[in-house]
Amino acid sequence: MKYPLTLVPILERAGKLFGRVEIVSRCPDKSLHRYTYADFYRRARALAEALQRAGLRPGDRVATLMWNHHAHLEAYFGIPVAGGVVHTLNLRLHAGDLAYIVNHAQDRFLIVDDVLLPLYEKFKDQVGVERVMVVPLSGQTPPYESYESFLVGASGQFSYPELDEEQAAGLCFTSGTTGRPKGVLYSHRALAVHTLACALSGTMGIAQQDVMLAVVPMFHANAWGWPYLGALVGAKQALPGPHLDAESLLDLFQSEQVTAVAGVPTIMLGILQALEKEPGRWKLTPGMRMVVGGAAAPEAMIRRFDQLGIRVVHAWGMTEMTPMGTVCELKSYMEDWPEEARYEVRAKQGLPAPFVEIRAVNERGEVPWDATTQGELQVRGPWIAARYYKLPEEQNRWTQDGWFRTGDVATIDPEGYVKIVDRTKDLIKSGGEWISSVELETTLMGHPEVREAAVIAVPHPKWGERPLAVVVRKDGTRVAAEELREFLTPRVAKWWLPDAFVFVEEIPRTSAGKFMKSRLREQFRDWKWEA
Ligand code: AMP
Repeated sequence: MKYPLTLVPILERAGKLFGRVEIVSRCPDKSLHRYTYADFYRRARALAEALQRAGLRPGDRVATLMWNHHAHLEAYFGIPVAGGVVHTLNLRLHAGDLAYIVNHAQDRFLIVDDVLLPLYEKFKDQVGVERVMVVPLSGQTPPYESYESFLVGASGQFSYPELDEEQAAGLCFTSGTTGRPKGVLYSHRALAVHTLACALSGTMGIAQQDVMLAVVPMFHANAWGWPYLGALVGAKQALPGPHLDAESLLDLFQSEQVTAVAGVPTIMLGILQALEKEPGRWKLTPGMRMVVGGAAAPEAMIRRFDQLGIRVVHAWGMTEMTPMGTVCELKSYMEDWPEEARYEVRAKQGLPAPFVEIRAVNERGEVPWDATTQGELQVRGPWIAARYYKLPEEQNRWTQDGWFRTGDVATIDPEGYVKIVDRTKDLIKSGGEWISSVELETTLMGHPEVREAAVIAVPHPKWGERPLAVVVRKDGTRVAAEELREFLTPRVAKWWLPDAFVFVEEIPRTSAGKFMKSRLREQFRDWKWEA
C-alpha cells in the first residue's frame, strides 16, 4: 500500500497502546508534574483542534519558546498533526537573533513558557506573531492568553487533516557558518523514518521498558528525536524542565529510575564530577546508558563512566540531519578486543545509522577508509536536508552530485567507524550551543578603536570550546579588554562574550586575504584559561 509516513500513527500508537505509561516533567519550582500518554494524547489532539479553530492553515509555522516538559511534547505532536509546522526557538539566543528568526519563519502563533516571557518581551515589538499562548508553569495567571484555556476551547472531536508525508512538520534554525542563522525544515516522512531508525539497537537502542530523559533541549535539533522516539516505543519519559544542573538531573535519574539519557559532554561531565564527588549519594539504575553527542565525548569520560556502571554511547549528528548521523556501538567481535582498542573505537563518533550514507572527500576526491586520510565528511539520506529554508542562494553546502557537506573533517576506518578530527565551519561550540565567530568579529570591528578582530574556538575543559578574540587596535589607540567586553554586552548573548582578548600587531592571512584561522587555532591551542 502507499501509506504516508507521518507523525499521526506515532501519536495514535502512544495514545492507544501506551496510555498508562507516565510522562514526568520538572516544573520551575522543582515540583514534578506527572501524567500519562493517555493525557498527553488527549491534550496533543486538543492542541491540534484548537489551532485549527484558531485558523491554522496547512504549513503555518507555530513557534515554541519552551524548556523540555510535557507541554512542549504536546506541541511536538499537536502542531504537525494539525498540518502546521512546529518551529522550536532556541531560548539561549540573543533577542535580536530570535526576532530575525521569527520574522524569517513568519511564525503566526507562539507558545511560550511563562518563565520565558521576559525573553519574549525583549523582542515582542520586533515581530508580528498573531497570537501568543502562555504555558502557566509557575501557577500564576499569565498576562497573556493561557495555553490551558486555549486547549479548553477544543471539543475533543478532532479528525486529522489529510497529510502528505513530504509536508513540513518541524523547523529548527542552526547557526550559520557565516551570517544569519539558517532554517532546516523536517518533513513528516523524515521525522517518521528517523524515529524508526533511532529506536534500533545499534543506534539509540530504546525499548518500551526504558525510562528516557533527554537533557538535550527540545529547541535543539528535535532533542535528537527523543520525544518522538519515546512516543513510538511507548517508553516512560522524564523531562528536566529548566533544571539542568548535575544534582537536579541526578535526583530525577534516581526518582524516576531513568535508564537512558541523552546530552552534550559538558552536562555529562558535570554529572560525572558530582557522582565521583559523592559516591553512593544517588542510586542509579544498573546498566544505565548515556548517549553523548553534540560535541566530542572525551575517551577519559567514557572510561570513568564505565567504572560507575554507566555506558556512554558516543553519537554525532547535525541540525541539518534531524539530527542522527552516526552512533558508536562496538561490533560483536570487538567485545573480545584488548581494552585499549575497544576504548579507541568507542571514542570515535561511530557507524552511520541505517539509510545514512557517508563519504569523506579531500582535494583528490573520496578518501579511502584507512583510518588516517582526512576529508570533509559528506552525507546523504532520507532525513538529511536538501536545502535551507527560504534561502535559495545558500547552495554551497550541497555537492553537484547531491551530498550534504557537513563542514566536519573526519577519517573513516576500515570497519566504517567515523572519527571527527576537525571542523571547517567557522563556529564555536560552547556547552553544546553555537557561538558565531563571524558575528562576534563584525560586532567587534564596529568598535571605533578596533581595526581587525578574529575570534576563534579554543579548547576548554568544561565547555568544550570557548571564544578567544584576537584584536588589532587602530594606530595610536589603547582600547582594553574590559572596554571591548562592555561594548559587546548589549549586542550579543552574555555567554557569547569572549573569555579572553589578545592584542596583536596583525592577524595572519591566507593568500586570498582572509584571516588564517587555522594558524590562530594552532597558536592558541594550549591557551590556559583563567580558573
Ligand atoms: P548542531 O547542528 O548544532 O547539532 O551541530 C552539529 C555539529 O556539532 C556537527 O557538525 C559537529 O561539528 C558537532 N558535533 C556534533 N556531534 C559531535 C561529536 N560527537 N563529536 C564532535 N563534534 C560533534
